[in-house]
Amino acid sequence: MRRLEGKVAIVTASTQGIGFAIAERLGLEGAAVVVSSRKQNNVDEAVEKLRSKGIEVIGAVCHVSNPQHRKDLVEKTVQKYGRIDIVVSNAAANPSVDGILYTKESTLDKLWDINVKSSILILQAAASYLQKGSSVILISSIAGYHPQASMAMYGVTKTALLGLTKALASEMSPDTRVNCIAPGFVPTHFANFITNNDAMRKTIEDQTLLKRLGTTEDMASVAAFLASDDSSYITGETLVVAGGMPSRL
Ligand code: NAP
Repeated sequence: MRRLEGKVAIVTASTQGIGFAIAERLGLEGAAVVVSSRKQNNVDEAVEKLRSKGIEVIGAVCHVSNPQHRKDLVEKTVQKYGRIDIVVSNAAANPSVDGILYTKESTLDKLWDINVKSSILILQAAASYLQKGSSVILISSIAGYHPQASMAMYGVTKTALLGLTKALASEMSPDTRVNCIAPGFVPTHFANFITNNDAMRKTIEDQTLLKRLGTTEDMASVAAFLASDDSSYITGETLVVAGGMPSRL
């Protein structure tokens, strides 16, 4: 399917894992994609991989909590493609396994800064270039519904994104739709402290109705749906993509 022909997409934190898979899928559906992450060599590698699949792509270094990097990412996109149709805010950090009451203030700041504030600031930078019919996708987590002990404060920042989705959907309507994806557990570098542990992995698989972990492609296909006009009457929603793990009624 080429549902995104002529569209331009920015995906943050997109040189590996879920972000890379989303960039790849949007690109294969016809969008020009702008990939980014903190490290130039990762950006270069991702661009090369995507180009080898025939995807129109450029890359930029963007640590999402760096104001100049965010500005450069948006400016580079607009200079090259002249518009923005899709923004996927995918970056997150989970720097601590401490309980909330034992989490250092600097860690609380980092969690808020990267997981929540940077999503807002990247959209502030991109807002004036967003086209009529554009789509914003925030990446939350199943932990936003059930913050497990080892990722409690991370989970709380992901809960905040559910509210942010509602608030931005209202503020950015009717020209821009804003939706959110709450992935279940996907074996990536980010999650390997859990998914590489056989016992924990089995426990999580058993908590899903589909009896497996998610894949990055599972997340990418939902992102492509939310980015496309196939979801043109959906805004302010969070899609839980977690194999039926408990989330809500
Ligand atoms: P991942 O495979 O570890 O990939 C992380 C990507 O983010 C890399 O490209 C990394 O590249 C980049 N990155 C890290 N910190 C960054 C920053 N501050 N600014 C910009 N780029 C940054 O992670 P993932 O599992 O795909 O996670 C992606 C998103 O999915 C996160 O929002 C996460 O909370 C969410 N999620 C993941 C799971 C899961 O089970 N994997 C479950 C629920 C939600 P550089 O090192 O070059 O910066």
